[in-house]
Amino acid sequence: MDARDDVGLDATGQPVAVLEAQSDAPERTSTIVMKFGGTSVADAECMKRVALRIVEARRAGSPVVAVVSARGDTTDDLILMAREISTQPPEREMDMLLSAGERISAALVAMAISDLGFQAISLTGSQAGIVTDSVHTRAKILDIRPFRVQDALDAGKIVLVAGFQGVSTVTNDVTTLGRGGSDTTAVAIAAALGARVCEIYTDVDGVYTTDPRMVPTARKLSRVSYEEMLEMAASGAKVLMLRSVEFARRYGVALHVRSSFSNDEGTWIVQEEEHMEQAIVSSVTYALEDAKVTLHRVPDRPGVAARVFTAMAAANINVDMIIQNVSEGGTTDISFTVDEDDIPTTVALLESMREECGFAALEADADMAKVSIVGAGMKSHPGVAARMFEVLAENDINIEMISTSSIKVSCVIRKQHTERAVQALHEAFGLGKDSVERDEVFG
Ligand code: ADP
Ligand code: ASP
Ligand code: MG
Repeated sequence: MDARDDVGLDATGQPVAVLEAQSDAPERTSTIVMKFGGTSVADAECMKRVALRIVEARRAGSPVVAVVSARGDTTDDLILMAREISTQPPEREMDMLLSAGERISAALVAMAISDLGFQAISLTGSQAGIVTDSVHTRAKILDIRPFRVQDALDAGKIVLVAGFQGVSTVTNDVTTLGRGGSDTTAVAIAAALGARVCEIYTDVDGVYTTDPRMVPTARKLSRVSYEEMLEMAASGAKVLMLRSVEFARRYGVALHVRSSFSNDEGTWIVQEEEHMEQAIVSSVTYALEDAKVTLHRVPDRPGVAARVFTAMAAANINVDMIIQNVSEGGTTDISFTVDEDDIPTTVALLESMREECGFAALEADADMAKVSIVGAGMKSHPGVAARMFEVLAENDINIEMISTSSIKVSCVIRKQHTERAVQALHEAFGLGKDSVERDEVFG
């Protein structure tokens, strides 16, 4: 894939990664990309098991690139370490710090592989040719230049790539891709190499109807369409990072989410086919990191919303849901959700615009969560949203905000109700192992 220096802006003013605007995937090869998450490489035992699995794939005849995450809670520990030192650590230094976690894993797994008698080389994101924009802690991939990866594969080596990181060719600084970013590293490399599959090894054995750690009756799905997986990832299912699914869909990368502790078949993320069963609701997701921001008594005139959200986009703050209330006496309230970590920046930014925009008060509430139902069959079935609201009402859960897409309905609720809401929705839409057949729910 060629480097390009033009970076466009999307509808919200965010830069569009150039790589993602291209569609020229290379020809398929027999290479496989295997990605191992934090739990999969948590300690020496786990790393040796991962090394064995990689070697088995190599023995079976495939060139292998393995992308690894930081061990266990390393990333969280590094973040805490930074907070002990500084209340507002510079983001560039955060990236220097956080990228170390993945580098440690890559080097250690390479050692374990070499002990098994195979040649292995570990590469940082930068050495692997992951070129990003310069937005520290949430960089987007602009280009993959996997020359060193390819050379090492051609020389018969197993390549370990430190996930979650890249380099900006503008600043020459190390960047990180945001939480869960190793998934995106893996899929982007798989796309650039034309890999036949990108295997995501994790601590659950596939994608479930909801988080199996929250709802024990959740069922494993054998196939999920890209479209549904995108909505699931966007609404909080952490099993795959959203951008990794976007890449996979754009480049047609076959994604297989499976357990690093067993050889069982996991979940395939695939192109939707006509004969695929389209469940009305196939999963329930939740996100605990949502925070609600309200601008009270905003003058109801053209340009105010544009001004606010352009400034938010320029500050690289992702806004999810937005609602504007009915205008009363020439003013209106605007509420929107952001990640709770973005609250301090959001508040500082909006306060600096208070006079210019003319709103009367600003309120930020981090005690929020978002629950969503996702399902491709929703497109052709009315009444799904109403049923969701009913279920929440039956459980005495107040809805603070609502948003819908053609295959998803999301509600913002108080954080404390999350588990009850997810369990009740999972049950009501017939998703559990012991539930009635799903179709019966809608008769
Ligand atoms: P890794 O460190 O391997 O990247 P993550 O913690 O990022 O693993 O993602 C796996 C976790 O995602 C699981 O442990 C599970 O709790 C959570 N999860 C949330 N929703 C789902 C879902 N629908 N299916 C499977 N796992 C889910
Ligand atoms: N280590 C990073 C995180 O914890 C990236 C990843 O694991 O994908 O978010
Ligand atoms: Mg992850």
